Amino acid sequence: VAKESGRNQYQIFSEDMLKETADRLSMEHGLRHALANSELRLHYQPQISLTTGLITGVEALLRWNHPKLGNVPPIQFIGIAEETGLIVPIGEWVFMTACREGKALQDELGTDLTISVNLSPRQFQQRNLVQVIEHALAVSGLLARNLEIEITENILMVNSTGNLEKLQRIRELGVRISIDDFGTGFCSFSYLLQYQVDRLKIDRSFIKQAGTDPNAAAVVRTIIAMSHGLAIRVVAEGVETEEQLRFLMRRRCDEAQGNYLGLPVAAENFSAAVQGYSGIGALQNV
Ligand code: C2E
Ligand code: MG
Ligand code: MG
Ligand code: MG
Repeated sequence: VAKESGRNQYQIFSEDMLKETADRLSMEHGLRHALANSELRLHYQPQISLTTGLITGVEALLRWNHPKLGNVPPIQFIGIAEETGLIVPIGEWVFMTACREGKALQDELGTDLTISVNLSPRQFQQRNLVQVIEHALAVSGLLARNLEIEITENILMVNSTGNLEKLQRIRELGVRISIDDFGTGFCSFSYLLQYQVDRLKIDRSFIKQAGTDPNAAAVVRTIIAMSHGLAIRVVAEGVETEEQLRFLMRRRCDEAQGNYLGLPVAAENFSAAVQGYSGIGALQNV
């Protein structure tokens, strides 16, 4: 196809590809040094109770400031970190940092925040995952019940007893488990009966469409009803508008997270950000 469409286009195509490959190599190379060079940071996004308007938790989100490429979004480097196995040391750093900064945030705000940490499939293959989590809790002094891991449905679907045993051991520590991006994976409900899950996070694609697409709205309502039937708390991801917030409150969604309620920020900026945050005010007006 490239050949048929002529020389110029072929060249443009090829340049794009070269640039992509160069960026990828540069990223892969850079990622190997990112930890040692202190280029990684965590940002924290508040999760708000739709019944009290209070912050119930924060999600830790990885940020990478590459010396040449600038801020590289996680969607561009988590995949590379997974493929190269670098996600293992990076993931350990994430647990240590999230527990330490999360504990400090708890103390600073004087509230019983839950700290949510994302866990990718490759991290589940790590033999000492449970010890890594135990260690991060012990060193930071964060209580296990204030730590939550966010996993995707796919981890539960992998037919690996190893994965499931690990999940069970993490649960036994007292750490909470939530299902991230719920509704987008290989959805099977049987695992909801087999494993105790604390929260479901409705994927933001459904929240986004719920205002305009009656089917998306029906999916959201159904996920909320199902969660409540199973005594699982439900969180809406990616809330961007007051209208979406209103819809979720009407439907008795338990919690919400999204740019409308608070952007992800560094730990040192968190308390200032939530002082003037639109969340509580927004909830009072709804
Ligand atoms: P996720 O776990 O589903 O995280 C939520 C993503 O939605 C975050 O993107 C967040 O910044 C974004 N978001 C929050 N509110 C809004 C909103 O109102 N509108 C829109 N459009 N987006 C919103 P981010 O930070 O770019 O992270 C992307 C993904 O990268 C995460 O999705 C997660 O799967 C992965 N990730 C991030 N940090 C880590 C980490 O420490 N470890 C692992 N394994 N994965 C991570
Ligand atoms: Mg998440
Ligand atoms: Mg998500
Ligand atoms: Mg995700």
